[in-house]
Amino acid sequence: MKILVLNCGSSSLKYQLIDMENETVLAKGLCERIAIEGSKLTHKVPGKEDFVIESAMPDHSVAVKLVFDALTDAEHGVVKTVDEIGAIGHRVLHAGPNITESCIVDEHVKDVIRSCFDLGPLHNPANLMGIEACEKVVPGKPNVAVFDTTFGMTLPEKAYYYAIPTEYYEKYGIRRYGFHGTSHAFVSKETIRFGGLDPEKAKVIVCHLGNGASVSASIGGKGVDTSMGLTPLEGLIMGTRSGDIDPAVVQFICNHENKTVDEVLNILNKKSGVLGLSGGVSSDFRDVENAANAGNHMAKVALDAFRYRVAKYIGAYAAAMNGVDAIAFTAGVGENDKLSRQIIIDEYLSFIGAKIDPERNNVRGKEALISADDSKVKVFLIPTNEELAIARDTLRLVEAQ
Ligand code: ADP
Repeated sequence: MKILVLNCGSSSLKYQLIDMENETVLAKGLCERIAIEGSKLTHKVPGKEDFVIESAMPDHSVAVKLVFDALTDAEHGVVKTVDEIGAIGHRVLHAGPNITESCIVDEHVKDVIRSCFDLGPLHNPANLMGIEACEKVVPGKPNVAVFDTTFGMTLPEKAYYYAIPTEYYEKYGIRRYGFHGTSHAFVSKETIRFGGLDPEKAKVIVCHLGNGASVSASIGGKGVDTSMGLTPLEGLIMGTRSGDIDPAVVQFICNHENKTVDEVLNILNKKSGVLGLSGGVSSDFRDVENAANAGNHMAKVALDAFRYRVAKYIGAYAAAMNGVDAIAFTAGVGENDKLSRQIIIDEYLSFIGAKIDPERNNVRGKEALISADDSKVKVFLIPTNEELAIARDTLRLVEAQ
C-alpha cells in the first residue's frame, strides 16, 4: 500500500508519499505560504529535478488538491491516479488525556482534536484543517491521526501529575503530556531492534536533540517518563526555548519589565534557549559552536548548559527506571554533533559505566553503535523518521479495519 503522510502547519504543509512494500519515499514536498500571498509548492521525486508550482493557495483544501495533482502529474507524478494511495496519515500535536493511541479519524476524533485547540494553539487547528481538506478533496479515503502526545500516555501517575491542586487536572487536563512522541516511540523501538535488546524489558533513554529537544525513558518501547510537559516548553534547553525554569521568573520579569504573562511566555519559547543564553548569537547549534570556538564566552556557556541539562535528564531517567540498557541519540544535533554526544556521555555518565568509542562516534546520520566494547551501557546513534512512523501506524490501522 502507498501512504501519504501529511504534516500541516498554519501556513505550510509537508508531505511524503511512502510505498509500504519496501518503506521507500516515492515523493515528498512542501507547500509554503498557504493563505498568504506568494504561495508555492515544491515537489521532489528522488532522481528528478524539483517541480515547483507557484499558485495561489487561499486555504489548506487548495494546497491538498495541488499535492494530489502533483502526485498524479503526467510528468512529475509517481502514481497514475489517487486510487493507488491507500490512506493518509496525519501528524497531530495534541490529543489531550482521552486518546491514548493513533486512530482512524471519525467525527469523535475530530471533536477531540478541536477540544485540544487551547492545549496546542499553533498546531491543532492546522492539523484539523489538513484532515478536513483531505476529506473534501479525496472523500472516502481513510485518514489516520497520529498524535505527538500518545507516547506520554503510558507514563505512570507519579510521572505525569504536576504537584499542583488536582482540580486543575480534573477541570482542564493539566498534566505532563510530552511531545516528539512519534520520534521517541520510533527511536526507542529501533534501538531495541538494532541493538538486539529484550523487546519487553529493555530500558532505553532516547535523546531527541534538534531545534526542539527532549529526553524520554521507556521500558520495552513504552514511555515511562519524558521531559516535555503540558507544552513543549519544559525540560531541556533548546534552540529558542528555556526548558525548565522557576515559574517565579515569569512573575519577576512581568513586574519589572511591565510585560504580560503571554509576552514573557513568548520570550521563553522564542528568544531563550541557546539563542538567549549565547547573547543572541543563533538558535542554530552550528552557529553557536562556531562562536564558542571563536572565543565567545556566552556561546560556550550556552553549549555547556545544553549538554549539562541533557546529562542531568539521562541521570534522572536512569534512576527513574533503576537502570538503563541503552542510550540513543537522534535528531539534528543528536545525529550530527559527535562532540556533544561525547561530552554528554564521557564527562557526566562514566559513573554508570557509559563510555564512548571515539572512532565509532565519528559517524553521522545512520544507525550505529557508538559506545566502547567495555561500556556498561550501550550508546547508539539512531536517526529518527517520524514520517515512516506515521505511515507504519496508518498502515496497521487501515489493514485492521
Ligand atoms: P527540528 O526538527 O526541531 O527543527 P532538527 O532535528 O532538524 O530540528 O535539528 C536542527 C538542529 O540540528 C539545528 O540547530 C542544527 O544546528 C543542528 N545541527 C545540524 N547539524 C549539526 C552539526 N553538524 N553539529 C551541530 N548541530 C547540528
